Amino acid sequence: MYARSEHTISRSQVSDNALKVLYKLKKEGFDAYLVGGCVRDLLLGREPKDFDVVTNADPEEIKKIFRNCRLIGRRFRLAHVHFGKEVIEVATFRGKGDEQNEKQLLNKEGRLLRDNVYGTIEEDVWRRDFTVNSLYYNIKDYSVVDYVGGMEDHQAGKIKFIGDAEIRCKEDPVRMLRAVRFAVKLGFNIDEECQKAIHENSSLLASIPPARLYDEMLKLFLTGYGLQTFEMLRHFGLFQILFPATEKSLSVEEEGFPKLFLIKALQNSDNRIGDGKTVTVYFLMAAFLWEPLQTIAKKLLSQGVIEYMAYQDAANEVLSKQVKLTAMPRYITTAIRELWTLQPKFNTRVGTKPAKLLTHPRFRAAYDFLLLRAETGGAEQELAEWWTRYQSANEYEQRKMTQPSRNRKTGLKRNHRRSNQNKSKDTP
Ligand code: ATP
Ligand code: MG
Repeated sequence: MYARSEHTISRSQVSDNALKVLYKLKKEGFDAYLVGGCVRDLLLGREPKDFDVVTNADPEEIKKIFRNCRLIGRRFRLAHVHFGKEVIEVATFRGKGDEQNEKQLLNKEGRLLRDNVYGTIEEDVWRRDFTVNSLYYNIKDYSVVDYVGGMEDHQAGKIKFIGDAEIRCKEDPVRMLRAVRFAVKLGFNIDEECQKAIHENSSLLASIPPARLYDEMLKLFLTGYGLQTFEMLRHFGLFQILFPATEKSLSVEEEGFPKLFLIKALQNSDNRIGDGKTVTVYFLMAAFLWEPLQTIAKKLLSQGVIEYMAYQDAANEVLSKQVKLTAMPRYITTAIRELWTLQPKFNTRVGTKPAKLLTHPRFRAAYDFLLLRAETGGAEQELAEWWTRYQSANEYEQRKMTQPSRNRKTGLKRNHRRSNQNKSKDTP
């Protein structure tokens, strides 16, 4: 235990609503602690994303104490206490698991299927993933309770499983992704035993339901550390489980382009997040799957399939395989398709088509995608520049830019004409 004077957490860093919940539980005679990511982030002087509370009150008791409370979760019942937009999650200590009463179920690979036994704080700690995620801030005396050496690992900057790394990976393979995510986000190193367990068990990730992997994937790639995360996931053989087609395209890369393209895409979104701008998952997914799409489409084209059909079929194939791994909502796959379909349309620079393309709701994203391709050699730089100029031109200039005679000078490529021939069919 670290007394109030032996750690750096102060109540002024804790959200008022979380404090309200903690004090109220205490007043009702229960134990109450902050736990998990928020304690970890507070110790690092970072602003926590959210505040999680644990208590010895069971969900029904919690519900009686807070009017603004909802019980959620099937695998493990939790209380959500609502304060406007802020939600404080209040969980009951989890118990050790008692195989006899079958409340905790493991499948044959050792994965935890059901887990609904309440217990004490000493038992709760063993349910958590990493030592640095298992520190408890006690509202009773403002101390930090540490059963697993989490404080030392904090100081050493170490991500370390609680207990046997191999068993913990098998129980819940998503923990391997979490290890990578926290290592990158906190700038910590993954403990050696933990590294070994991840290397050896990466394939178990394939058994996780696609919807859960989708959620994890968002946290991995859309929170500002996408590029480093990508590199580390590849290092551990985890990326190939999540995105096998992408991994394959990286291993057969020609002149480094596919990899460069992905790196640029990830760097772009990391920078955007750093600048406080929004990023979309569909843009990144369109980039991840662009090379696999090209490979299939090219094969179909060589078999004589017309361009538009080749890309449609390739998109279907790539996306239907990917959603089996990381389920994506329909509106996301629709957006990916649109982004892809708009790419060949940039080749048309004469007539009324460019003006129409400009008004497409996904024009901006598609243009950004074109820039990215141009930057990494996947599209003509000159084409991207033309569209940059075209957008900022006034109406008169725009009309001039799209006159056929003018374009002849810049030299339309043969394949531009070909895509023009198909353009009547080429509508999404
Ligand atoms: P973040 O800053 O991303 O929210 P976090 O550590 O709070 O990080 P959560 O997913 O919010 O992560 O989980 C809260 C806590 O619950 C974790 O700190 C950890 O102690 C525990 N936990 C979450 N997921 C798992 C898991 N798969 N296995 C074991 N413990 C877990
Ligand atoms: Mg959290």
